[in-house]
Amino acid sequence: MEERLADLHVHTFYSDSTFSPEEVIEKAKEMNLSAVAICDHDCVDGIGPSIKAAENSGIEIIPGVELTVGMNDVEIHVLGYFVDWKAGWFKDRLKVIQDSRVERIYKMTALLKEQGIDISPDDVFKISGKGTVARPHVAMAMLKAKKIRTLDEAFRLYIGDSKPCYVGHARFSAQEAMEIILKSGGVPVLAHPRVMGKDEFIPELKKYGLRGIEVYHADQKGAVAKKYLNIAEHFGLLATGGSDCHGLGKSRILMGTVTVPYSFVEKLKEESLKIRNERKTV
Ligand code: AMP
Ligand code: ZN
Ligand code: FE
Ligand code: FE
Repeated sequence: MEERLADLHVHTFYSDSTFSPEEVIEKAKEMNLSAVAICDHDCVDGIGPSIKAAENSGIEIIPGVELTVGMNDVEIHVLGYFVDWKAGWFKDRLKVIQDSRVERIYKMTALLKEQGIDISPDDVFKISGKGTVARPHVAMAMLKAKKIRTLDEAFRLYIGDSKPCYVGHARFSAQEAMEIILKSGGVPVLAHPRVMGKDEFIPELKKYGLRGIEVYHADQKGAVAKKYLNIAEHFGLLATGGSDCHGLGKSRILMGTVTVPYSFVEKLKEESLKIRNERKTV
């Protein structure tokens, strides 16, 4: 039998991917994936529609989320696998971040105006649609209004970290993020550690309840992945992996280009059960 493969980091247009849940499933079929984890930024609204789109496809949807976390003034991303995405309290916690993301669009468009780039908050919201609004939507609005030539230009000149029109948004603390994910029965996993470049945070994150590290990622291949596999083993953390596909939002469609064997999914399921059982006994 062919080995079953999973891509454990995929976005939908409920955050900043250009793909609808239906497009995610279509691509997953094309790439012969058995399981796909939907991990939108600070949002779980895409999970239900993805499960629906996957009906009769033979593809398993793993409910996930990618939380934005501030730690020592650095932004890191924490994935949560098998979170209780239907729980009202869980969605309420995410809503605080989502509302702050909306607020920041008003500030960013005002700063852009000062730079001679006149786009309205509504131009951005029309593009972001449902779920989380993020900087790529601002870049797309700028492109649509022909204020820039490429999306990259928007980040390079205006909205990239520390550029003149960058505005931050509310983030979870590392401790809060772990608590929220664990309380919802989810498995907290550090996303793409190479991108954040703060490996020294890992012991503290583990103290707060971190259970895994995203070892395999579109930006972590070969020797880099090996390094993070060693780190995961050293700290007794699970290894995960996924493409971080944003549809057409990155230079190419990444889904299925980074995969892990289905046994990784089974380990995450076991860990989630363990977390849920531990919660019952406290
Ligand atoms: P936000 O969460 O709203 O701060 O936006 C972060 C998202 O913007 C990331 O997930 C990336 O997809 C995208 N992004 C950040 N920096 C860049 C960049 N320099 N070029 C293109 N996309 C970027
Ligand atoms: Zn994103
Ligand atoms: Fe991320
Ligand atoms: Fe991501």
